[in-house]
Amino acid sequence: MYNQIVSFIKTLYAGTEGTIPLHAPCFAGNEKRYLEACIDSTFVSSVGKFVDRFEEMVADYTGAARAVVCVNGTNALHMALLLAGVKQYDEVITQPLTFIATANAISYIGARPVFLDVDRDTLGLSPAAVEQWLKENAQMRGDGCYNRTTGNRIAACVPMHTFGHPVHLDELLEVCNRYHIAVVEDAAESLGSFYKGKHTGTFGKIGVLSFNGNKTVTTGGGGMLLFQDADLGARAKHLTTQAKLPHRWEFVHDAIGYNYRMPNINAALGCAQMENLPLFIEKKREIAHRYNAFFEALPVSFFTEPEGCQSNYWLNTLIMPDKESRDEFLAYSNDNGVMTRPAWRLMTQLPMFEQCQHDHLTNAHWLEERIINIPSSVVL
Ligand SMILES: *Cc1c(COP(=O)(O)O)cnc(C)c1O
Repeated sequence: MYNQIVSFIKTLYAGTEGTIPLHAPCFAGNEKRYLEACIDSTFVSSVGKFVDRFEEMVADYTGAARAVVCVNGTNALHMALLLAGVKQYDEVITQPLTFIATANAISYIGARPVFLDVDRDTLGLSPAAVEQWLKENAQMRGDGCYNRTTGNRIAACVPMHTFGHPVHLDELLEVCNRYHIAVVEDAAESLGSFYKGKHTGTFGKIGVLSFNGNKTVTTGGGGMLLFQDADLGARAKHLTTQAKLPHRWEFVHDAIGYNYRMPNINAALGCAQMENLPLFIEKKREIAHRYNAFFEALPVSFFTEPEGCQSNYWLNTLIMPDKESRDEFLAYSNDNGVMTRPAWRLMTQLPMFEQCQHDHLTNAHWLEERIINIPSSVVL
C-alpha cells in the first residue's frame, strides 16, 4: 500500500525534480517586478509603499478592520498577547498540538500556557475541553477570570487552526466570552481558510498570520496582526514601530516599543503573493480533492475540512491507523523521494512545558500518534 501512495504523490507532482517537498513556495506572478521596483526606490527597509499596500491587501482579503505587518508570525503572536492584556504570571489557554511558536510567545511575557485537548474533527482546541476545564478551575472576580487553585488570572485563550482547518469558533467564542477571556487566534497556518464564510483570524480580539517560507503566502519571513477594532490596530502599529511619536526630526517615544515592523522589501514580495492567493487556494483545494478521492479506497483516512468551513488545506493530512503504520510510512516515503512529516511533539512532552497545567489530552495524544503531513505545494 505504501508504494501505491508514494506513486500517487509522484504522479501528482510529476514535474518536480528530486525529492518532493512538503510545501515549496510558488513565485509565478509579479514577485521579481516588485522586488526590482523596491530596490530601485532604495526604500528596502522600514518605510515604503509596499508595507502599506500589503497591509491593505490582507485587510481586504480577510475582512479585518485593520492589518498590521510584523517581522514574523512569532513576534506577531507576542504582540497580540501584549495587546490582549496578557501579563506576567497570567495563564493562557491553548492546545498542545501546535507549532512551538504558540507556546513560546506566551512564555515571552512570563505568562504560563495551560494545555487543553483538541477535537478530532478540527485538530484544534476543543470548546468542550475549555468549558470543562473552566468549570472545574475558574472563578470569576470583579476584574476577570481567575484560577481557583493557582490564584492566577486566566487572561487569554489561543486556539490554533491546525494545518489550515478552522476550530469550532462559535462554541469557543461563546465559552470565552462567558468567562471574559480574550481570544487571540493563531491563524498562522490558515490564510485563505473560512469559518461559516468569514475569514479565520477575524473572530477573536486579534488574529495572527505567518508568511514564513513554508506557508501558503510567503514574504521570506513575516507575520501579520488582524484586528476587528481599528483603534487597537493603530496601537499595534505604534508599538511595533518603536512607539515613536511622529515628528519631522525629533526622536520621542512614549512607551516601550518593539522593532517588529516588516521591511518594505519583504512586503513587496507579499504584495505579489497576495495577488495570486485566490489561485493558490483554488489549486490547493484541487490537490486536496484529488488526495481525498485517492485515499477513499485505502485504509488510511485523509483529513477533510470541518463542517461549515472552507479550508486552505495548507498541509494535507493523513490519519494513519496506528503509530506503527505512521512510523513505517514516514520511513518508506522519506526513503523513496517523498517528503512526509509527523505532527509536532505535543508541547506537554517538551522540557520547557512539561510542568504546565493540562487536562487528559486524550485526542491530542491519539492524533499525535497518527498524523502524517504529505506534499501540499501549489504548482502552476
Ligand atoms: C508558522 C507558525 C507560526 C509563526 O511562525 P513564524 O515562522 O515566526 O512566522 C506560529 N504558529 C504556528 C502554529 C505556525 O505554524
